[in-house]
Amino acid sequence: MRVLLVEDEDRLAAFVIGGLRAEGHAVDHASTLAEAHRYLDGGQYDVVLLDLLLPDGHGRALLRGLRARDTEVPVIVLSALGTTDDKVGLLDEGADDYLVKPFEFAELVARIRAATRHGQRSSRLLCVGDLALDTKTRIATRGNLSAELPSREFALLEYLMRHPGQVLTRQQILDAVWGFGFESASNVVDVYVGYLRRKLDRPGEPSVIETIRGAGYRVRP
Ligand code: CA
Repeated sequence: MRVLLVEDEDRLAAFVIGGLRAEGHAVDHASTLAEAHRYLDGGQYDVVLLDLLLPDGHGRALLRGLRARDTEVPVIVLSALGTTDDKVGLLDEGADDYLVKPFEFAELVARIRAATRHGQRSSRLLCVGDLALDTKTRIATRGNLSAELPSREFALLEYLMRHPGQVLTRQQILDAVWGFGFESASNVVDVYVGYLRRKLDRPGEPSVIETIRGAGYRVRP
């Protein structure tokens, strides 16, 4: 795993870095918010361990910045501040967990495991039958076919895949993907289903999106 540790206390940082590297993880260490931003701009991490009181500001600013940019990287707050208000506030702002100092290394490892497992479960990858959709990269994969989808095609496929097996009417799809105000007489849904089929169907095999005559569309579970 790639870990970013944001911590200005040298002894604690050395303890965490030593332990995580011994377990085979790659750890980058930032001791200020500015350094943390540089690391985050330069790469992707599986988890961020975030101290709150840093020389150039509060860790909460970094957390807000990450969540405002829709970054889903799990963040575990490490802090000596242990009041309930702090904890609830930070979880509300998008922290995944909160660990009060001093902590046992084994507990940190357990929290990292839980937070990263949760990250995977919050479905970056949607799978239905032989179809997979990465909700972050917008790449749809079916067998040996793969396509990066433009936003509307992505939204349509994601909507269908989040309701596997369910027949969705054109009106439901229009409302969910195009927003209200589209006339149900519009054939825009059929056109976009066509785009997806061209990218993800193989000749002679059932289509990625099934047409239910007189009702709508569905993806088969
Ligand atoms: Ca500190």
